Amino acid sequence: MALTVVYSPDHVRHVPDGEIWVGVRIAGTELPSRGEAIHAAVTAIGYPVVAPHAIEDDELLSVHDPALVRFLKNAYSDWQTSDYPRDPGQDRVVPYAFPHPDMLVDPRPRHPTSVGARTGLFALDTMTLIGPGTWDAVRAAAACALTAADLILAGSELAYAAVRPPGHHSGRSFYGGSCYLNNAALAARRVADGTGERVAVIDIDAHHGNGTQQIFYESSQVLYGSVHIDPGAGYFPHWVGFPEETGRADGEGSNKNVTLSPGTGDAGWLAGIQELVEHSSSASSVVVSLGVDSFLDDPESPLAVSVEGHHRAGGLIKDLEKPTVVVQEGGYNLDHLGELVVAFLDGLENG
Ligand SMILES: [Zn+2]
Repeated sequence: MALTVVYSPDHVRHVPDGEIWVGVRIAGTELPSRGEAIHAAVTAIGYPVVAPHAIEDDELLSVHDPALVRFLKNAYSDWQTSDYPRDPGQDRVVPYAFPHPDMLVDPRPRHPTSVGARTGLFALDTMTLIGPGTWDAVRAAAACALTAADLILAGSELAYAAVRPPGHHSGRSFYGGSCYLNNAALAARRVADGTGERVAVIDIDAHHGNGTQQIFYESSQVLYGSVHIDPGAGYFPHWVGFPEETGRADGEGSNKNVTLSPGTGDAGWLAGIQELVEHSSSASSVVVSLGVDSFLDDPESPLAVSVEGHHRAGGLIKDLEKPTVVVQEGGYNLDHLGELVVAFLDGLENG
């Protein structure tokens, strides 16, 4: 199966310039060099690389609330016209107050006048900063995912959206976890709408894709399955990602979470992926959320999967023999990032 890579150099415009983690500004790991490393690796292998086609903001509304799209688009310029860049001297968009549901009288909170408070209406956390080029990069990533989906609809068997920032922590009306728009969900929705048939999302990032789960939780047309570090062991996204979350209403039974203990290596991880492959058997197409942060030396997760394990994961998903869109999520070991992605793609293409 021939694989096409969709890539936009505009990802470099997203420079989060760190994270606010437990109140402290740290360097962060979701860096422009991630996208460069992946691009260098897929180019060295010789995969054809194409640019995304232009998209309209309306195309983002297939999985996102218009208010979130409007917020993300305007957040940085709104922040610049507030006092925050001068007093107290914060140049990145970051929330400081959140509308706890028990505080609200009306469950639909009003839109606060303060951009600092308004950010808390949409953000899950303080780690996901918005800078001057963030929206352009986020939109380019969404365009790559939609273009990869369109390649599948046009008859390709395999397409890979080599994007950053990642997307699977962002839901219908919220963003966080270094994610802004949900690239994989956009691709899955596009393929499901274009084919009229069932699509399975297989999320192998080390963390639960809480955003993708939320978007499709009541859908029987898009199945979601994820293998990830157990949130109950103290890992992001903490509140969701447990095995008892199986979907709701029409989506009952369509959601599958496989949780792993810290230190889980190839055997446990691959057994989890095999469960997701079986969960996906009724779908006509597949979208893979490809995080490679399950790697044994990744700074963001305690899983311990080898390069060879990533190759075998690709092979397990190849066995489904369905058209597949791969969308990049996490993976933060810059020395091994390209190698891990290429190992997975080679397994997916050649078994
Ligand atoms: Zn991750």
